[in-house]
Amino acid sequence: MLNENNAKNSLLADAGKRLEQALKHVDISEDAIARLQHPKTSLSVSIPVRMDDGSLKVFSGYRVRYDDTRGAGKGGVRYHPGVNLDEVQSLAFWMTFKCALLDLPFGGAKGGITVNPKELSKAELERLSRGYIDAIADAIGIDVDILAPDVYTNAVIMGWMMDQYSTIKRTLCRGVVTGKPLTLGGSKGRDTATAMGAFTVIQAMLPKFKLLPAKTTVAIQGFGNAGATLAGLLAEAGYKVVAVSDSKGGIYAPQGLDIASVSEHKNKSREMKAVYCHNPLCSIVEHQAISNQELLALDVDVLIPAALENQITLANVQDIRAKYIFEVANGPINYDADQILTQQGTYVFPDILVNAGGVTVSYFEWVQNRHGWYWTLAEVNQRLQEKMQIEAEQVWLISQDLKIDLRTAAYVQALKRLGEALDAKGNRNYFVNSSV
Ligand code: NAD
Repeated sequence: MLNENNAKNSLLADAGKRLEQALKHVDISEDAIARLQHPKTSLSVSIPVRMDDGSLKVFSGYRVRYDDTRGAGKGGVRYHPGVNLDEVQSLAFWMTFKCALLDLPFGGAKGGITVNPKELSKAELERLSRGYIDAIADAIGIDVDILAPDVYTNAVIMGWMMDQYSTIKRTLCRGVVTGKPLTLGGSKGRDTATAMGAFTVIQAMLPKFKLLPAKTTVAIQGFGNAGATLAGLLAEAGYKVVAVSDSKGGIYAPQGLDIASVSEHKNKSREMKAVYCHNPLCSIVEHQAISNQELLALDVDVLIPAALENQITLANVQDIRAKYIFEVANGPINYDADQILTQQGTYVFPDILVNAGGVTVSYFEWVQNRHGWYWTLAEVNQRLQEKMQIEAEQVWLISQDLKIDLRTAAYVQALKRLGEALDAKGNRNYFVNSSV
């Protein structure tokens, strides 16, 4: 269903196949389908940057607003050597569905710069970030398109971007960027939002299968911002987190890991070790060192990919033994593997639901910026949990009613909302059948 140019991109082609599956279950107008096949605007820019040695380097940047029928575009900015227009379009397309699924008053957008940020000094990175805003300023705005952090961008960079946009506009525009430092109008709870959102979905869904925390084993791939925070929340709630990993490999202890100690040790030494820490001392506990592939194949109840895309494919799907998978990473299971998991009765809770806590608190940040009234952490978390719970229940009910897998159910719900909004502007039935 997606345009030819986009089909070259495997991420978008994958998303397109999933969308086609969902379309079989939604009554959506042909006009709405036609509109969703193309990004509304795709901007390619060049960003000249004066380097520290006096030379000039020109970087390529992109900003895509895929759809803004339900509200201003919303999406992160990625700094990565692999960034290109097709990838940014795919990510903007995903954001459109994620925002609709969570019923946020936003459309979908994404941006990026083709760069390896590790090769730049901090001053060069600042000039690049400000140059990016200079180049795309006419395409963004508080009610037009709102930026956020993504791969290799962070709160400091978001602060620079907001400041640069405000300088251009000659007025403070906090709401044009979310994920900012707290002191520049960031929201409390933004740093833990993705994990808190995923935790809420897990807590809402597992009781449906009569799984009790103390008897539920969990393995988590990726021990970064999202994975490590989620591991901590699950351990605190009494789940048995038996395995975690990072890019270098993982640790497995069938009796359960002390996640607070593992995190403390990793923060101090950058090393992933199975430890138990008491006061300043950490001692190693019995465990096995495992590879990331071994972690994915563990015989656990719940598997949580929280690292990268395309981790479960036809090459390893037959090894997956977990009955419940919660996708915290974006796109960790490819389309073909997903079909097999569904056939074998694995419940896959999809990324556009499970990791939507981040964009939800970004929405809260935008609301707080507009009101100039800032919420407590308890208020943020309570509103986040409420929203995640409502939308997770909806996805569950749709999947039960239509007897479809959870991913298709999530797309069905998002498509219904997008279709309604697109049709509210008038579709061919209205113009053909109405005399007004
Ligand atoms: P991060 O960079 O903080 O952490 C990534 C973790 O994955 C690190 O522990 C890293 O060592 C590990 N990792 C990298 N390569 C790996 C490999 N080959 N095998 C196993 N582990 C590997 O990133 P994050 O913010 O925690 O994001 C993780 C995933 O969640 C990404 O897919 C991201 O798009 C998605 N996500 C994050 C957020 C958020 O707010 N942080 C929101 C939505 C989606």
